[in-house]
Amino acid sequence: MPEMPEVEIIRRYIDKMVAGKQIMDIDIRLPRMIKWPDTEGFRALVTGRRIREMARRGKYLLMKLDNDNVVVFHLRMTGRLVYAPTGQVTDSYARVVFLLQDGASLIYGDTRTLGTIHGLKPQELGMLKGLAEMGPEPLSPEFTADYLYAAARKRKVAIKSFLLNQKYIGGIGNIYADEALFLAGVHPQRPANALRRDECERLWESINKVIAAGIADGGTTFRDYQNGEGGKGSHQEHLYVYNRNGEPCRVCESPIVRITVGGRGTHFCPKCQEMK
Ligand SMILES: [Zn+2]
Repeated sequence: MPEMPEVEIIRRYIDKMVAGKQIMDIDIRLPRMIKWPDTEGFRALVTGRRIREMARRGKYLLMKLDNDNVVVFHLRMTGRLVYAPTGQVTDSYARVVFLLQDGASLIYGDTRTLGTIHGLKPQELGMLKGLAEMGPEPLSPEFTADYLYAAARKRKVAIKSFLLNQKYIGGIGNIYADEALFLAGVHPQRPANALRRDECERLWESINKVIAAGIADGGTTFRDYQNGEGGKGSHQEHLYVYNRNGEPCRVCESPIVRITVGGRGTHFCPKCQEMK
């Protein structure tokens, strides 16, 4: 699933390519991808509008229109948003296609169709609970070590599950959570409220570090993630623990272990991340 770095990479490219352009028409190939409003309402909301910018909050992409309405995309497992300069749709899983004034297309493709698209008026933005209730995101001024320590102290859940809860921190998913815990030397099953102040500071620093590295590498691609040009990221080549079950730790050479925490596959080094 694309996480904050992958969605940010998509945002940067799409924003560069579509900002200021008018949406001439829309080809809705799979109406159920659009969760709000109905198909005709959505068509009316976007057709003829100019795209002001492509923004992002956590893992959500927000296409802001000149009438202050916003199209909100959540890519979930296999969603992708790709800009096609010639307008040609080559994605056989294209679900919704925005036709732009210069003949280009913005294509929402989704193999498993678990993603969501909402067309919202400004007063409707609160409707999306996941967006309205999202906590601060990595690399933002609101996300401080103090914030992380204060939020973690109140929760008994495993720190791994805490990191994945978008209400506490927006944008972190399975890959970057495992990587940040490794860099901080924190065992994923430690209760969040058992982390000491110095551990929270290390974890805060590690979260920012892995997210920034993911963005610098153009994201992480295992199977599905594509940037806005349909290409791949390279951060998968630099991972410490994620998807490295049985391979030697890059620091101590102990085999990386895979366990399940809160229903999610979790990778860690039993020597570098002790259950203290
Ligand atoms: Zn190790």
